[in-house]
This record gives sequence, structure tokens and C-alpha cells, in this order.
Amino acid sequence: MFAKTAMKLAGAAAGLVAAAGAATFGYGAQSARNWQSTGHLKFPASANFPNLKGHNNTMAECLTPTIYAELRDKVTPNGVTLDQCIQTGVDNPGHPYISTCGIVAGDEESYEVFAPLFDAIIAKKHGGYGPKDKHPTDLDASKLKGGRFDDKYVLSSRVRTGRSIRGLTLPPVCSRAERREVEKVVTEALANLKDEFQGTYYPLDGMTEAEQDKLIDDHFLFDKPVSPLLLASGMARDWPDARGIWHNYSKKFLVWINEEDHMRVISMEKGGDMRSVFERFCSGLKQVEDEIQKKGWEFSRSEHLGYILTCPTNLGTGIRAGVHVKLPKLGENPKFNDILKAMKLQKRGTGGVDTAAVGGTFDISNAERLGKSEVQLVQLVVDGVNKLIEMEKRLEKGKSIADLIPKSA
Ligand code: ADP
Ligand code: MG
Repeated sequence: MFAKTAMKLAGAAAGLVAAAGAATFGYGAQSARNWQSTGHLKFPASANFPNLKGHNNTMAECLTPTIYAELRDKVTPNGVTLDQCIQTGVDNPGHPYISTCGIVAGDEESYEVFAPLFDAIIAKKHGGYGPKDKHPTDLDASKLKGGRFDDKYVLSSRVRTGRSIRGLTLPPVCSRAERREVEKVVTEALANLKDEFQGTYYPLDGMTEAEQDKLIDDHFLFDKPVSPLLLASGMARDWPDARGIWHNYSKKFLVWINEEDHMRVISMEKGGDMRSVFERFCSGLKQVEDEIQKKGWEFSRSEHLGYILTCPTNLGTGIRAGVHVKLPKLGENPKFNDILKAMKLQKRGTGGVDTAAVGGTFDISNAERLGKSEVQLVQLVVDGVNKLIEMEKRLEKGKSIADLIPKSA
């Protein structure tokens, strides 16, 4: 049931890396382009404005010559520049399946130092979230209503978030030493987890290719860094140094280290019990945070942006609560995309973000992460997926779903 059925994106850069082979160039080769010289500082900002013609990512929509001129010469306390943050969006005009952001943060401070650009992107990506808005956090899973889906339709349930360790720069710019420090801090904390959360850490460079492929195919591990988005952002430098996966013995609670974020925390299982998945997510995450704090570290967080992560789409809760769900009939309905949008849901293929759905099985999850709490977002997915399943059942019987479609769709 976990077999990978989705088609992999064969984008130009992904194809190039695959064809060249990791052994020849290494996964980080392309990301070397991320590091600009400072030679352009002798020229006016207008002479260094990126060519964004034909781009359709959010950074390209929001970056004006005026904003670029205002921000080009600024650096964060860690030395991060705007050009480093936007390189991924300059090199990747768009994406065939998802609407991309086109920008990453190099450190927590990037969001403040480059606020004129980040704020505009955050507002577009998070339903008009404003620079003065405050983000709520609520990790009390007992508040969730319902959450047990029909197993005939829902094949698996998953909740993930990201967390950053305050004081260490983020994957697009971090040094090897910082990346190794993240790995050390996180694995030492994980080694102290109790009860059902006891597990083992598997560094990527201690794994065979076959072991890694099996973990990816079984949906437990992040993909190899073949995505052009990841490569151009700088996140794949030094791959696989200090990357790895930790999981508990039942493989239902997992932590990724040093992929797109310092940490990704995941709770997942087969079937439709989203309630148990969310309960495990909240209690496991609490234990992880406690252990990290005991060592004198903390997660990057602010009242305004919630948990601070590499990609602005993940700010706030960082939560993506999703199911692999069979909707072959609804998936063919011309209004399917509008229905999802109106319900604040998004779809992916079951092989992850770079895949298209095949065979009528989709990864359906919340589209927003900021401005609503964890409980609110998981509730939105629970209610939304129940409604999608109801629509699918109607369509199976040849009946109309007109009354179930949200008015704004
Ligand atoms: P993320 O947003 O967590 O980075 P991706 O789309 O990159 O998610 O997918 C990462 C991996 O997680 C992929 O192998 C994908 O198939 C798997 N995955 C995502 N959602 C689910 C789910 N509901 N059930 C099983 N596997 C899932
Ligand atoms: Mg991902």
C-alpha cells in the first residue's frame, strides 16, 4: 500500500543531475551558483536585478527594482544576503505541480532584515497575513473533534512539522560545522526519549544505497536532493554530510535531520486514524522540545511568525497534516482543484511534492500553516477530507454533489 505509484518530476535540473550521476558532480554541484561574489556592489542595484521574465513564483511577483535596491546591500548578523535567499526562485521560474515561493531564509534574522520582500510573500502565501498579526500555537490534541477516517478510502495518515535550532543558520547557508552541531544537538536529545518514543538514528552516510532507497520508497525518508528547488537554494551542499533519519521502533514517529529544515518531525501510520497520529505527534514533539531545552538550546520562534523555518510557506505551525486518499471519481471532476482551494486544502502525488497523482490516489493536506493553530489546521483537514470522501461516495452512486461543493468553488 505504500508502494510508490506517482510519477517523478523530470525537470531540467533534476534530469541533469540524474544523468550526470551523483558520483560525478555530487548533489551540491549546482548549488555552488548560490554563492555570489560581492563584485556587483561596485554597480548600482539595477545592474544586478535578476531576470524574472517568464517567472511565476511568488518572489518574482513581489520583488520590484525598488525593493531590491533597498535590500541588496543589507546583510543579517550571520552574513546572509538577499541574493542568497532569492537564488532558488531566480533559477526555478516555476514548478509543474505546486505554486512555489521562490525564496528561502538563510537564518532567523532574514525574515526581519529582508522584511519588505518576505512580508509581501508571506501575505500572498498565507491568506493576507499582515506584518502585525500574531500567530497562535495549540498542540493540545484532545481538542480535535473526530479524526477517524474510513479506511476504505484513506490509506495512510501523517502530520509533520519543522523546527529550527535557534542560533544556528538554516540549511541554505549553514556551514559544515553548524550542520554537524544541529545533528549532534538533535540526536542527543532524541536518544533520551522515553517509552513508545525510543528509537535509533540512521545517518545517511552510514546507510547503503539500497537501505536508503527502501526508506524513500516506503515514504519514511526524504528524497535524494534531486529537486532543482533544493539544489539552487544551497540546501544540498556537502550532501550527505550530517543528514539522517531517526525513528522510533514502530516507525510511527520520525525525525529528519538537515534536509530542508534543521529538523522535520513526523507522525504517521497506515490507515485513517488521524486522531492517534496527531496525539502521537503532539506528545512526541513535546518530549523532543523538553530534551533540547535541557541541553540549553531552543527552537526559533516568534509571536508574529510562530516557528521559524527555511521556507516561508512553512512558517507558523509548520504543520502539514495529510492523508493518502483514494478519490478516483472526484479527482476527475473539473471542479476538483477549485473545491480543494475553497476548502483550503492542497493536493500532491503520493510520492511527495515533486510527483503528480496517478490512479486517483492523492496526498491531500492543509494549504495554510500560519495564523491558525495546529489544532485548527488538523481539524480543517479532518472535516475537509470527510467531505471529500462523502463526495466520492455520491459520485460512485452516480448522484450529484452540487449541494456539497463550497459556494466559493
Ligand atoms: P513534506 O511536506 O513532509 O516534505 P513531501 O511531499 O516532500 O512532504 O513528501 C515526503 C515523503 O512523505 C514522501 O515519501 C511522501 O510520499 C510521504 N508522505 C507524505 N504524506 C504522506 C501520507 N499521508 N502517507 C504516507 N506517506 C506520506
Ligand atoms: Mg519535502
